[in-house]
Amino acid sequence: MKSFRIAVLPGDGIGPEVMAEARRVLAAVETKFALKFELNEARVGGAAIDADGHALPAETLRICGESEAILFGSVGGPKWESLPPHEQPERAALLPLRKHFGLFANLRPAICFPKLTHASPLRADLVEGGFDVLCVRELTGGLYFGQPKYCRDENGEMTAVDTMVYKKSEIERIAHVAFKAAQGRRKRLTSIDKANVLENSVLWRKTVIEISAQYPDVTLNHLYVDNAAMQLIRNPKGFDVVLAENLFGDILSDEMAMIAGSLGMLPSASLGLKETPLGRFGLFEPSGGTAPDIAGKGIANPIAQILSAAMMLRYALGEPKAAEAIECAVRGVIDSGLRTSDIFSEGTRRVGTAEMGAAIAAGV
Ligand code: NAD
Repeated sequence: MKSFRIAVLPGDGIGPEVMAEARRVLAAVETKFALKFELNEARVGGAAIDADGHALPAETLRICGESEAILFGSVGGPKWESLPPHEQPERAALLPLRKHFGLFANLRPAICFPKLTHASPLRADLVEGGFDVLCVRELTGGLYFGQPKYCRDENGEMTAVDTMVYKKSEIERIAHVAFKAAQGRRKRLTSIDKANVLENSVLWRKTVIEISAQYPDVTLNHLYVDNAAMQLIRNPKGFDVVLAENLFGDILSDEMAMIAGSLGMLPSASLGLKETPLGRFGLFEPSGGTAPDIAGKGIANPIAQILSAAMMLRYALGEPKAAEAIECAVRGVIDSGLRTSDIFSEGTRRVGTAEMGAAIAAGV
């Protein structure tokens, strides 16, 4: 029996509620696929500030380091908003985790289920039948981290400078992640750049084309970022995997989350430098936050957390069949008409977090 060690960090707000359902689904996967998950739970975020005085205790980091993946809830909330910015849960927990594990690849699927197209703000005819686009965003380079970076008085005028830098090796490694993801999907990759203006983008495009020779089964095309922003709205069904550098990916992945419709449905993965024969170490978490407005009411949608566990199985643990079983169970439950409040519509049945989780676990 294959065995995996997983760090489970539920965090704050709805985090523990939706994590309990992800654990329930993983237990169903263990039985069906003869796998063993050693789930080691640790505090993070506001919960850790309250108990340990710091958003990312050393013990939590140790547990993460000894695991094959991190299943993360979300952190933050009004209680900790008055702390100095560098002590606040997101800044003091997520950013150090990203840095510590070199999480350079952010994967965000924007999935609009055929039965939930009404939740998309796009016109019905554009989203009919649903869509499933995966955005692969470079997370540790580009304009956000390049040096020099300053805002100062220069010759009597305030002047701000940010620097966009990419090394070829950084582009190569994120391109490999995107091509491999495309191989596991519909085998189409759209690389985003601004090669008509930016030197960074010229190197980006050239490098992605070079890497594509190693993936002859994947069809590659290129779009300028401004055109991509339009095409994603005009025809989201026309995309499979979208690959972008940090800034472009930041903007496009949020645009895609919006057109998919419901935040409580969207998982994400941040993959790191550590590779194993089975996949890549990573942190898997819902795209949304701690939803303080509904925390403690038992009504949060657990699907984003459950689909994050599916991404963990696919990208970190090399268990794509188990991942598919979860995704299939989610589709089945949506098709059967069960809805948490955030995705409820007339003619469907409203359920709470636990009932939704139990239905998905039963469908695995
Ligand atoms: P949010 O994503 O928590 O909530 C936005 C809206 O979406 C709310 O109305 C909420 O009820 C709803 N929502 C989100 N997830 C849902 C779910 N699973 N089911 C049903 N409804 C859901 O964003 P926010 O209100 O801007 O942030 C709240 C807190 O979360 C803040 O402290 C913020 O810093 C933190 N946050 C953390 C992360 C993270 O840990 N990665 C990410 C984003 C925000």
